[in-house]
Amino acid sequence: MDVKKIAQKENTLKFLVRGVNSEFANSLRRAIMADVPILAIEDVSVYENSSILYDEFLTQRLALIPLTTDLKTYKKGESAKMSIDKEGPCTVYSKDIKCSDPKIEVADKRIPIVKLLKDQKLKLEMKAVMGFGKEHAKWQPAVVSYRQLATISIGKDCDLCGKCIENCAKKLLEAKAKKIVLETPIECDLCGKCRDVCNLQQLAIEYSKDDFLFTVESHGALEASEIVEKAAEILKDRNSDFRKEIKKL
Ligand code: SF4
Ligand code: SF4
Repeated sequence: MDVKKIAQKENTLKFLVRGVNSEFANSLRRAIMADVPILAIEDVSVYENSSILYDEFLTQRLALIPLTTDLKTYKKGESAKMSIDKEGPCTVYSKDIKCSDPKIEVADKRIPIVKLLKDQKLKLEMKAVMGFGKEHAKWQPAVVSYRQLATISIGKDCDLCGKCIENCAKKLLEAKAKKIVLETPIECDLCGKCRDVCNLQQLAIEYSKDDFLFTVESHGALEASEIVEKAAEILKDRNSDFRKEIKKL
């Protein structure tokens, strides 16, 4: 197996995994989405809410606000206390959520929660709990996708007309040693234009069976790289538990 970082920008990490199969790629994707725990608001005590939003609507919004999570301090089921105390006229933003633990804060401070008119009040106490994406989407730390890398094969009747080269919007194809080659398969988005313009039908696009390009976009609770590392650790622990159990048979 070989893993290479392709790009990292703000909350998004792109990396290439070579030498694995689709079952492995899917296990990693599922572990990232379902098994890496993060904090999310779970219990809300409403002391005062004279805003336009019903309590239920408001708590639903609060639950989906990403919170930074310290995996060293917080374990499964543990919680942190939070509160909001605001009076209108104002817009209540995620930055108005105060946490008893200074290590925990909202990941994005600009999320509007509700608008308060003059004399309207919002007073809440909340509990953010460590949970898993497999229980509720609010605990899903990231959006993750993967795709197989493209390869192209050229038939023996190719006359090197160059039409495929001209029509690749990303300019990824080149003629080298009397052959058409795809220089950077990572950049290819599998649009199929090069295949479609070949009148002789000499160009075929195929998918590599063991190279996967992952994109992990964190909601901000954890760094994207931390999420992937934690998911890999979870898969390793699960395998070792399975080996222990199988030995007992
Ligand atoms: S368009 Fe077809 S025939 Fe022309 S260079 Fe490309 S693969 Fe060869
Ligand atoms: S599939 Fe699209 S992006 Fe990929 S090489 Fe062909 S034309 Fe270019």
